[in-house]
Amino acid sequence: MSSDTPFVHADGVAKRWNGQLGVENVNLTIPRGSFVALLGPSGCGKSTTLRLLSGLELPDEGSITIDGRDVTAAAPSDRNLSMVFQSYALFPHLSVAENVIFGLKVRKVGAAERREKLDRALEITGLTGYEARKPGELSGGQRQRVALARAIVANQPLCLMDEPLSNLDAKLRASVRKDIKKLQVELGITVVYVTHDQTEAMSMADMVVLMKDGHIQQTGTPEELYYKPANTFVAEFVGAPPMALIESKALPGFESATHIGLRAENIQVATSGKGRLACKVSECEFLGSETFIGLTHPAASGLTVSLPGLKTIPAGEDMEISFSDSDLHFFDDAGKRLATPAG
Ligand code: ADP
Ligand code: MG
Repeated sequence: MSSDTPFVHADGVAKRWNGQLGVENVNLTIPRGSFVALLGPSGCGKSTTLRLLSGLELPDEGSITIDGRDVTAAAPSDRNLSMVFQSYALFPHLSVAENVIFGLKVRKVGAAERREKLDRALEITGLTGYEARKPGELSGGQRQRVALARAIVANQPLCLMDEPLSNLDAKLRASVRKDIKKLQVELGITVVYVTHDQTEAMSMADMVVLMKDGHIQQTGTPEELYYKPANTFVAEFVGAPPMALIESKALPGFESATHIGLRAENIQVATSGKGRLACKVSECEFLGSETFIGLTHPAASGLTVSLPGLKTIPAGEDMEISFSDSDLHFFDDAGKRLATPAG
């Protein structure tokens, strides 16, 4: 296969159970060696999509190829992939080492090669010295690393991960996130990674696939989703804080759009009488280096302004804001992005 042939390709894939929708019209083109995040709220079809790629589910419509081979109806074991799930799926009675090399033993790989692969995987995941421990004697983060080590040892070119970090606390999540990303680059493997956490997707992925109600909403780089959201759902899902949406009637001159989007970093506090929107402070969220000031306005939702350092402003206080036209995003009555306010 030439290097520009997509490594994983899904074409018009759909899955239903007794007529109930799982996913529909799923089209994916995943380059070799890339890190792709399937992102979206609970129930949007992320796991179903991953399970279709893995062969744990078979599609009702469409086709899937991996490495140029049609695997639409192939068994999971016949797709050259490894999987890491949210539940670590470790054998509690086996040691770390035995858990990691379990698949190699099943495949009758010799003892010397097993040892070599084990040592390398433990080193990569920072588990050297933990070989003899049982899963019950490890922290959640260490157990997740064992599951990762097992996927590494499998040495497959494609690794599918379904919310692998959701059982970990926030700090650990941030560090294992970096480990996974580093590993993916070092091993040169292709990763498809399911998460409902937009921060995780945006920070790890080369390409994000954002889903809602079984349908892909937008596929693009993190920057594309952030700076050019295809619709109001993407605008409000991506970014912390999410994009604010203002009814166009509140901003003279943009009536041809239905909603106008604006990000917190593009909003300035204006002196009284000089702002473009007169808002009221609803809450202050102190984050250390900055404070997010939540604002209310009768024709807007999600308005937030970011101020440096610690700011405490009483709720109910008046605050006028200003912003440049060049930072505005425009959406039509169906929520779809407009290139210009005139559409
Ligand atoms: P996510 O992983 O994004 O939370 P899922 O892919 O698990 O979402 O589910 C997508 C939709 O498909 C949901 O409405 C879910 O209830 C449905 N679904 C998933 N698996 C099954 C199944 N085995 N039988 C029936 N419905 C299912
Ligand atoms: Mg899921």
